Parts: sequence; structure tokens; C-alpha cells
Amino acid sequence: MGQDIAISGTGVAGLAAATAVIAADRDCVLFGPPAQKMRGGVQLAPNGWAALSVLGLAQDVLSRATRLHEITVRSLTNSATLARLPLKDVYASVARADLATVFEQKIVQTDRFRRHNTTVEQVSQTEDGVAIIGKDTGLHHVAGLVAADGVAGFGRAFISGQSETAIRASLATDKVALRSTINLSDLPNFFSQAISNLWLGDGVHIVHYPIADSANIVATMPKTLAHSEWQDWLFRHNTPLQFLADPAIKWASTPLPRSSTGICWRHGTMVLAGDAAHVMPPHLAQGAGQSLQDAACLMQSLTQYADVSSAFAAYARHRSGAVAKIAQKADISGKIMASSGLAGKLRNAALDLGGNHLMQEWLAEVWAADPGLRSQNT
Ligand SMILES: Cc1cc2nc3c(=O)[nH]c(=O)nc-3n(C[C@H](O)[C@H](O)[C@H](O)COP(=O)(O)OP(=O)(O)OC[C@H]3O[C@@H](n4cnc5c(N)ncnc54)[C@H](O)[C@@H]3O)c2cc1C
Repeated sequence: MGQDIAISGTGVAGLAAATAVIAADRDCVLFGPPAQKMRGGVQLAPNGWAALSVLGLAQDVLSRATRLHEITVRSLTNSATLARLPLKDVYASVARADLATVFEQKIVQTDRFRRHNTTVEQVSQTEDGVAIIGKDTGLHHVAGLVAADGVAGFGRAFISGQSETAIRASLATDKVALRSTINLSDLPNFFSQAISNLWLGDGVHIVHYPIADSANIVATMPKTLAHSEWQDWLFRHNTPLQFLADPAIKWASTPLPRSSTGICWRHGTMVLAGDAAHVMPPHLAQGAGQSLQDAACLMQSLTQYADVSSAFAAYARHRSGAVAKIAQKADISGKIMASSGLAGKLRNAALDLGGNHLMQEWLAEVWAADPGLRSQNT
């Protein structure tokens, strides 16, 4: 049996898990398609930074990130400011590609790391570990596998025992996110401010914030509204956002899932991490942050238990419990953001009256660092 711990998936969760395995002083073999530049950015809240701190990478990532000092909520209908939440603890945006670079620079430094630029085709639990067949790389025997291969990977179905059809049906929604990154030099200064902006409309919302030299913009709406001229009706009459009506701007469309967490995370010495473990819509900007917390917890469990099965059991028990409430709140946040008609007007009125306080209360629990994690570095 090989002593390696294998990771499948080279997204944020897979790269963070590989960092965790190496930080726990284990041999790591990473499987994933050849690296493609990740697009767009993510916001990381204080819990994400606390996890990066446990992994010893907070300063490296922060040096490539943009510290945001406020969340501003506005009405998409009349541009009125509804709420402004000052960000006291570290809250910052970072390009996904920059986040990936920090992980990759860390993991290639060690001779305990190997990489196969290919997908995992088949896995099976053996008596003393996991047998993996990689596309074009044949059979590998490892002590354990962390499946961080996303919502559509093989890991979620295989480890949880659900069928792929049942997974797809349980996650489907009528919502879509349209994403674009635009060079800040092509936009008015408004887009360069170190602010996380949320615009609430009638069944539609928009988020934008700067990442490095670009603006990261996400418009969320029902699929039925995302027809060819959606930019025109959404942006044309809104003063600061009217630049986004330009038909030359390219938007990538991503279907949004509903949250799903109540599945089994572990089977023998195979365990889930990242979106493969905890699917959630991006309405709380927590998917990547939770993946970082998975990695920090994995590192600590692998340090605490020599035996991979015990380490994975401790990790799965802790993280599946910790993430469930966050995922539930992400769904509720999405419903509030998607309110329309009278419900939308009431939402805006409530935010106008006490938005700062309401948001602080709602987010405090989400942003709190996982109490199970012990910070080791900054
Ligand atoms: C519109 C939008 C905005 C978001 N904004 C934020 C935000 O602001 N903050 C935040 O924290 N989160 C945010 N998220 C969530 C975040 O993007 C994800 O939670 C995060 O990237 C974790 O992804 P992952 O690595 O688990 O999965 P993925 O990124 O899906 O990566 C999975 C990887 O596995 C690989 N793979 C698949 N099958 C196999 C196989 N058989 N073998 C090997 N590899 C395989 C894939 O090629 C891919 O590289 C957002 C999401 C969306 C959709």
C-alpha cells in the first residue's frame, strides 16, 4: 500500500487540501485536469482568513488581495443607499488565479508532492487503502483520497452513495449567475472603490467588487430573465451601472444550486471536501471560505491522528456539522435577495431602517472562525 494521500480536483478546495496534507507532513499526490487559468474572484470573510492563517498562508494571499472596508447595499430601482456595513476584521477580495498561485507555490516546494495532470476515472476502497485509476496513468495505491472534485465530480456520488441523477435533481434551481471581469481602467472610478457592492432589485441582484486591476461583477436572476437583452433592461437606466449595458461585454453563465449538506462525507479512507461536500449558492460568498476551513481542519486532523481513517472520521464529523448552518443561511439569503414586488419593497424598507444592525447580526455567526480550528500562524 502507498502511504500517499491523494487529492482529486485542482480547484480552490483541491489545492487547499493538498497544502493541508503537506503541512501535516504527509506525502501527497494531486490528480486534476491540466491547470487552466481560473477566472474571476472571490470575497473572503474573516473565517476564510482565519483558515488561511492556520494553513500559514494568510499573509501570502493578503499581499495579492484587495482589502474591502465596507459592504454597501443599494436599491437597483432608484440607486438609494439602503445599508452600509463597515468591515472591521479582515475581509478582502482576491483573484481565483492568485489564490491558486499561492497554493501551488507552496506545494511544489516540497519533495513530498507529486502531480498527475489527469482526471481520476475510477476508485475503490481496498483493505489497506484506496485503489485509483487515473486517465492514462494506470493504477495507483494510496492510503486515502480527498475528493475535492466539485459538484459535478465523481466523488460526491461515489462517497455519499447518491446517484448522479438524484444529486442533479436535488440541487437544481431556476437561478443563474452571469459573471464578468472588466478592467478597472475601462470603468468609472466608482468601480475601483474598495467596497463590496450589493444592488437589490425586483427578483434580481448584482454584486461587484474590485480584484487586483479588474472589477468582478455577478448578476443573479431567474433563467427566464437571462435572455439576450438582459443587460439593456437591467443597466441602461442606472447611472453608475449603465456602463455594464455595453453589448460588447462578455458574460459567462453559471447555473446556481440550492444548498445541500446532509450527506455522508466519508467512506472508509475516502472523504469529501469543498463543493463536492457542501454545495451552496454564492449568496453569502462562503463556498471558497468554507473550502479553506475544510483544509485547515483536515490538516489538524491529519496531525492529530496517525491513522488516516481516524483522521478522516474526525474531519468529516467536525466539518459536516460546522458547515450545515452556513449553507442553510446561504439559501435564506438568496430568497431575501430574490424578493420581488411587495416583498422586495418590504425588504428594502427594513434594510433602510436597520440594515446595518440586521446584517451584522446575520453575518456574525457566518464569519466567526470555526471554533474547532487552532490558529498557528498569521
Ligand atoms: C457566481 C459565484 C460566485 C462565488 N463567489 C464566491 C465568493 O465570493 N466567496 C467564496 O468564498 N465563494 C464563492 N463562490 C464559491 C466558490 O467558487 C467555490 O465554493 C470554490 O471555488 C470551491 O470550489 P471547489 O474547488 O470545491 O470546486 P471546483 O472549483 O468545481 O473544482 C473542482 C475541480 O475538480 C476537477 N475534477 C472534476 N472531476 C474530476 C476527476 N474525476 N478527477 C480529478 N479532478 C476532477 C475539476 O476540473 C475542477 O478543477 C462563488 C461561486 C459562484 C458560482
